[in-house]
Amino acid sequence: MAVERTHKITLIPGDGIGPEVSAATVKILEVAGAATGVGFEWHRFAAGAEAFEQTREYIPKALYESIEQNRVALKGPVTTPIGGGFSSINVTLRKKFDLFANFRPVKNLPGLATKYPDIDLVIVRENTEDLYSGLEHEIVPGVVQSLKIITDKGSTRIAQFAFDYARKHGRKKIHAIHKANIMKLSDGLFLRCCRRVGEGFPEVEYQEHIVDNTCMQLVLNPYQYDILLTENLYGDILSDLCSAFVGGLGLVPGANLGHECSIFEAVHGSAPDIAGKDMANPTALVQSAVLMLHHINERATAELVQTAIEQVYREGKTLTRDVGGQSGTKEFADAVLEAMASPA
Ligand code: NAD
Repeated sequence: MAVERTHKITLIPGDGIGPEVSAATVKILEVAGAATGVGFEWHRFAAGAEAFEQTREYIPKALYESIEQNRVALKGPVTTPIGGGFSSINVTLRKKFDLFANFRPVKNLPGLATKYPDIDLVIVRENTEDLYSGLEHEIVPGVVQSLKIITDKGSTRIAQFAFDYARKHGRKKIHAIHKANIMKLSDGLFLRCCRRVGEGFPEVEYQEHIVDNTCMQLVLNPYQYDILLTENLYGDILSDLCSAFVGGLGLVPGANLGHECSIFEAVHGSAPDIAGKDMANPTALVQSAVLMLHHINERATAELVQTAIEQVYREGKTLTRDVGGQSGTKEFADAVLEAMASPA
């Protein structure tokens, strides 16, 4: 099919398993785009340690400019050094472009048996504040302070995002997750903002759960939840927990959404334990790309990709090892291409 329109997308392949899952995703999008009249112009950039080697900058100026211009980016995971070294590239990009809403839908794929069938919940995580403000210092040797920043503005806009999403998509229930019994001021402010916004949405049931209880409740009975509305840190932790319901981190997509720009990336990290071995599951990044396609109004392309992924899972013959298969990243991607070419 002739290309009718072309999208300029900033692509950050990332490191670890990033280049492998990004290559698979780009290949799948190229083929899906070609079948639906959509072209992609990928503007590729390194970030993190790899970028520093090339440019002496962890996030090259040209990468910032590219995201500013294209307003949409697809990103693989980037390794963050532990207990020192440079600041997280992910957190820096989210703050720089004010990508305040981290949106993570957690849903089973057909045919993939997990301990929890029929999961369909959404994590809406505040993405710019909290302990991720990166404000840490040593007061005296042996005593450090890390500042948790919660604002009325940040809490209100993420609550507004969650309730708007619930209304638009017919979701029934929002749980605000907190620890306001201990952090009375910060989490207390977060809750007050959620309650205030919630008053404008009488059709959406609103409840509050303490985060530690939430972990237990999720494992016991995740079906009681619909949308989890969280601050930054709790949302980060609960995302990994919830990913296990549907088969693990190889599956769950994500979007970092702002008013000006958006960056689409999987929940998972750079998975150094399996990097470079053709073992990574690209589903999470491919499904993040599906969210991106919806965001840029390329619905037909999005549906083509999603349907093909679901077909591969339904058939269950070409799955990666994390979900019980024997196939590699490339073989899985080829199966998705095949499913697009000959739908069931
Ligand atoms: P991780 O998500 O990289 O890996 C956790 C476990 O899940 C590992 O066993 C890994 O093999 C597995 N896994 C993850 N993605 C997978 C996939 N697509 N297919 C199959 N298995 C997969 O978490 P980690 O080990 O805690 O973090 C590694 C690095 O990633 C750290 O430097 C961390 O800071 C970084 N990180 C980056 C992002 C991001 O770029 N958005 C997010 C989380 C962590």
